[in-house]
Amino acid sequence: MSEARSGAVVVGGGLAGLAAAVAVAKSGLATTHLVPKGPPDRRTSALMLPSVEYLETAGLVPDPAAIGHKLTQIRIIDATPRLIRAPETLFDSAEAGLPAFGWNFPNVKLAEAFEAARAGLPNLTTIETTLEDFELGGDGADLKLGNGERLRTALLVGADGKKSRVRESAGFRARENGHRQAALVCDLDLERPIGGASIEFHYEQGPFTLVPAGGNRANLVWIDDRDVLRSAQEGGKDNLALLFREKSQHLFGRIELATPAHIFPLSTLSVDIAGANGVVLVGEAAHAFPPIGAQGLNLGLRDVADLAAALAAADLAKPGFARPLSEDYARRRAADLLRTGTMVDTLFRSLLADFLPTQALRAGGLWALKLVPPLRKAAFDAGMGVR
Ligand SMILES: Cc1cc2nc3c(=O)[nH]c(=O)nc-3n(C[C@H](O)[C@H](O)[C@H](O)COP(=O)(O)OP(=O)(O)OC[C@H]3O[C@@H](n4cnc5c(N)ncnc54)[C@H](O)[C@@H]3O)c2cc1C
Repeated sequence: MSEARSGAVVVGGGLAGLAAAVAVAKSGLATTHLVPKGPPDRRTSALMLPSVEYLETAGLVPDPAAIGHKLTQIRIIDATPRLIRAPETLFDSAEAGLPAFGWNFPNVKLAEAFEAARAGLPNLTTIETTLEDFELGGDGADLKLGNGERLRTALLVGADGKKSRVRESAGFRARENGHRQAALVCDLDLERPIGGASIEFHYEQGPFTLVPAGGNRANLVWIDDRDVLRSAQEGGKDNLALLFREKSQHLFGRIELATPAHIFPLSTLSVDIAGANGVVLVGEAAHAFPPIGAQGLNLGLRDVADLAAALAAADLAKPGFARPLSEDYARRRAADLLRTGTMVDTLFRSLLADFLPTQALRAGGLWALKLVPPLRKAAFDAGMGVR
């Protein structure tokens, strides 16, 4: 039986995979996208201005205002009973001379927009199946698909999430730490709206964050001990609404749940390198961390932007182009992956620290951010992934 051939195969139909499939197909390579059927992604994504600009220029989201909501302020409230507490801190995008820090989007709306961009590309074929396994060899990879088909590709793009089959079978070294914390997400209707402000109440087990979703609607991301979240969820929606009112310090009046609450397990994952031997990793296949400072998909989109740059710099007509391209991609990603991973890890540890000197450092850091303009500017740039 003869084997089908593709210039590139993108594995995974999450947001990173959809964006990567569009970027790879736009390079002109004959591209196959493997997308198994899955449930809709109930999360929302706060995407910083540079990411949103990328979505616009890449044709993925032509009009952010049609599907998202502007994020103009970030308010941090230390809600812990700790000895050393941080001051309440407000960051305003106007202070940085920006119209907004970014936009908040429902992931299902982003997926619809990315799928619309994918539909217009004649050299992109989508197959609704999984990647079962593959072997590398002879300037490419031989793939075995879940539907029984076989496929040979020059370039293989792993966008298959935290448990990436591509990462594992290609032998990329990864470190993963599971956390005892998880994240509970749902949409809330508030009596008093939060406008364009994202409001973070910092509790000892993690932040309770309300993100603007238009009008009186807010998206909740509550990080806490898994068991605490599970028992809160089991208490039913009326009890949850009361609990949310308490956790938001009664600042927004009556609260109602607009959608059911979903819980996501949290872990931290990193790889030593993000590309080699004609295989590249994008999105959570290459990096994952708790949703603190809204970095995950922002970083995933920067992976895709660098993949597009590596494709543009390569001679795709040359046999064996994929190996040097994957090495170029790994070089382009190395500093950003290290810097962002370290930043989120440090932030996560400082938020949960029992250790008094760490609490003092964090409180001191927030005072410094409150009072010292150059530090605030540096924090804006770091949080927004400005390169
Ligand atoms: C609660 C929460 C809130 C978050 N909020 C933000 C935020 O505000 N801002 C932000 O930037 N980030 C945020 N993130 C992170 C962001 O959601 C993720 O980084 C992003 O969605 C990951 O996308 P992905 O495509 O890499 O992975 P996934 O969405 O996990 O997609 C992986 C895909 O691969 C497929 N797959 C798996 N195995 C195979 C296989 N063998 N063959 C084929 N396909 C396969 C799966 O079916 C899936 O479709 C948040 C995360 C959480 C948990």
